Amino acid sequence: MSEESKSKYINNFRLYNRATYAFFLILVLLIRGSDITKSIFFLVYYLAVFVFLFAFDEFVFKDRKNKFPALFFQIRTYVHVVLVATGGIFINIPTVFYGALFLYIIYIIGQDLIFTDVFNTFMNYTKRVSLGLYTGLTMCVLQFRDTITGVWMLISFMALIIVAASFVFMYICYYNSISVYDDRYTKLYFKNADMIAENKKLLKFQERVEKVNNEINYQKINLTKANDDLAKINEETRSLIDVMKYFAASFDVEKNAHVMLQNVVNIKETGAVALYIDKDVYMNEEPYLEIISDNAVAESLLKQDISNIYDAIKKRKSVAPLVLCDNYDFKYPFLTGGNMCNAVVFPAYENDYVYGVMVVTSSKYDFFENGYAFYESSIMDFTSALISDRLYLQTEDMAKKDGLTKIYNRIYFNKFYPELKEEVAASGDTFTVCMLDIDHFKNVNDTYGHLAGDEVIKTVAKFDNEFAKKYDGTAVRYGGEEFLLILRGKGVEETLKILQELHAKIKENVVYYEDFEIKINSSMGIASYPETCSDINDVLDRSDKAMYYSKEHGRGRITIDGREGEEYK
Ligand code: GH3
Ligand code: MG
Ligand code: MG
Repeated sequence: MSEESKSKYINNFRLYNRATYAFFLILVLLIRGSDITKSIFFLVYYLAVFVFLFAFDEFVFKDRKNKFPALFFQIRTYVHVVLVATGGIFINIPTVFYGALFLYIIYIIGQDLIFTDVFNTFMNYTKRVSLGLYTGLTMCVLQFRDTITGVWMLISFMALIIVAASFVFMYICYYNSISVYDDRYTKLYFKNADMIAENKKLLKFQERVEKVNNEINYQKINLTKANDDLAKINEETRSLIDVMKYFAASFDVEKNAHVMLQNVVNIKETGAVALYIDKDVYMNEEPYLEIISDNAVAESLLKQDISNIYDAIKKRKSVAPLVLCDNYDFKYPFLTGGNMCNAVVFPAYENDYVYGVMVVTSSKYDFFENGYAFYESSIMDFTSALISDRLYLQTEDMAKKDGLTKIYNRIYFNKFYPELKEEVAASGDTFTVCMLDIDHFKNVNDTYGHLAGDEVIKTVAKFDNEFAKKYDGTAVRYGGEEFLLILRGKGVEETLKILQELHAKIKENVVYYEDFEIKINSSMGIASYPETCSDINDVLDRSDKAMYYSKEHGRGRITIDGREGEEYK
């Protein structure tokens, strides 16, 4: 039976009881008032009995929460029956009240039967019904003890004893058979109750298991995520080590930059990345820019904005990453319009000096949710490689360049020239060697001093180098004030025009040193392979000879190998 039904039972039960007790109290008072009996004992006893029973029920059933021990009902029934019946032993109860009492006992027993059924066991029925009937009979005999006299009284008591004995006999007779059912019923009842309790426990256990399961699942998800993150970090670290290994074996800054950027793209699956390095950072005369991008719009935006981004970063006086765009929220006017979702600038810096920027963009939402560590490590590794590359390049440069003029020296020429000859011979290309010597240079030294002479040498070297750059050639300081301009793929006529241009420039130029204005002139010689000289090994010597021809024939002129009769200025 459900707890709700039990509650309903108890409430109805209390309501009927109150009505019954009220009825009896009124009945006792009415009987007393109507002079049916003058017995003060009757009045006091039954008023006391019903007030006590009412109080007892009120007290016991209040806040019990439907739980009553079997013993409680047993005692309650006996107390009711005994208290109600006891009055009849001492007084003559008025017939009307007797009838009511009898009905009350039946009511109590009926009530008890219902409650034993609900709350108790089947076996108690017999005991209580027997008790009720026997008490009723006893009350009957006692009630009519005035009219039943003599032998009838004896017969009545004998009958009572026989009834009691037959009850006992019946009880014993049926006890076994009933007890079997009772036992079964009780066992079943308890089994059922046990099962319900067990079921409840199981349900609770199931809930707990489910909760634990959920918790485990949640932790499993977290663990898997942590594991994935760890694997990713591991992969990133390994890739950084591989990149570092590459850096260690390479002194080529631009190749290193490409490897670093490509690694960022591969590991992070970025949209577009760009690296911008300012000029003169690794002896580069122009700023360096490399962009790896999967979309043309992002690439052109990066190309357009990156130098401005670099300027903005330089002005900022911080080397922390700068978020340009955070999940479509553009914080600066750069890179807008490229449908970028995220863009961050990582300054490339050396001792807090910002020399470049790496810009990483993506069209993925929350792209940078795992932080910037990988990008910062990448750019830092690149910087340390760049520092050592630069040192290497500077050392190499120092070895092959002349200290005064900063153009290639004789040592470099001695290595470069045989290689050039080999290349030209193998490819069937042409090349021209122009030899240049400053005229009367000793005079400059003698007149203005060696430092002034140095300035003149530096100026001529600068012009030589400018022309080498302009015409894709090589400028060399061959001796004290002797220079070479080596050009590839150019014929004699073309070379002559270039050399005339250079010759005029040297001649027209004024070197200002202290208060002096120094003007110089030069002698030049041209030899070209295979145009003027079919033996590739003679070209240098022949250009020297042509230059000497210029010296010997008036200086300040240009002589072409094999065409000595022609004078060019
Ligand atoms: P020529 O027209 O015949 O070439 O006359 P020249 O005076 O130039 O004669 P020459 O080529 O023999 O003289 C070269 C001089 O250049 C000799 C040397 O003192 C000077 N010289 C060589 N190297 C340097 C240098 O690095 N600085 C200075 N100031 N002078 C140098
Ligand atoms: Mg000279
Ligand atoms: Mg000389």
